[in-house]
Amino acid sequence: MSLAKRNAVVTGSTSGIGLAYARALAAEGANVLINGFGDKDAIEKERSGIEKDFGVKCVYDGADMSKPAEIAAMIAHAEKALGSVDVLVNNAGIQFVSPVEDFPIEKWDQIIAINLSSAFHTIRAAVPGMKARKWGRIINTASAHSLVASPFKSAYVSAKHGIAGLTKTIALEVATFGVTVNCISPGYVWTPLVEKQIPDTMKARNMTKEQVMNDVLLAAQPTKQFVTVEQVAALAVFLCSDSASQITGANISMDGGWTAA
Ligand code: NAD
Repeated sequence: MSLAKRNAVVTGSTSGIGLAYARALAAEGANVLINGFGDKDAIEKERSGIEKDFGVKCVYDGADMSKPAEIAAMIAHAEKALGSVDVLVNNAGIQFVSPVEDFPIEKWDQIIAINLSSAFHTIRAAVPGMKARKWGRIINTASAHSLVASPFKSAYVSAKHGIAGLTKTIALEVATFGVTVNCISPGYVWTPLVEKQIPDTMKARNMTKEQVMNDVLLAAQPTKQFVTVEQVAALAVFLCSDSASQITGANISMDGGWTAA
């Protein structure tokens, strides 16, 4: 139980990778604030399931990661309900696929807000407490798209390159305070986010579902396998450990070899 007495906030944790982070951190003894959208009953089931399965405290906050005031209130909620924010995982994210000339302006603004600016807002609210306590772990979910691009994902690729830069910058700012800041860059992980972009990619590229799966998604991944949410979460747990205290400002790929090519 390497994270007993630690308190964690995971944005976008009602689904996919975020939920796996929350459960993996709780399995190590951390209390967790989960966040994200979805069916009320399903979220309550996940929240109470975390408490029951791991014997930790788990609270839910429905803050919209595109709204700075709600983000600040969520960090305050975690500090009040759990006592502190020792681990901050910025994970909420959305995708939209379109050629740039048709890319809706509001989708660009929304992706930059949720996938990039939200991390600025959570970090600026959580860092003072981490610095005061001289311990903290900030983990941002970037993407292989923080290192390389794919066509038709202008906003997503821009936001993910941005999160990689934000990670390095904050790592330098807090380096002497026992606070590490890293990003994890998965390749394709099988989650609702990936499943949902298949129809748009089919349209944008005029392909069948099978062609998108094999020729677009796994085409980039030399192992020809999807990353699992549990593998991503296990890396986050390692980054929270004392063994990882000298890993900071890093962008760690978990992409089946995608960005080696
Ligand atoms: P997902 O769709 O399963 O989960 C996204 C989560 O974010 C959900 O909990 C959702 O409710 C939440 N969310 C969305 N908009 C929100 C908002 N405005 N406010 C609060 N919460 C919001 O997706 P996922 O695949 O688990 O993605 C999680 C992160 O991992 C994203 O940042 C994504 O870019 C990144 N990522 C995913 C993959 C992949 O292949 N799935 C690869 C690389 C990076």
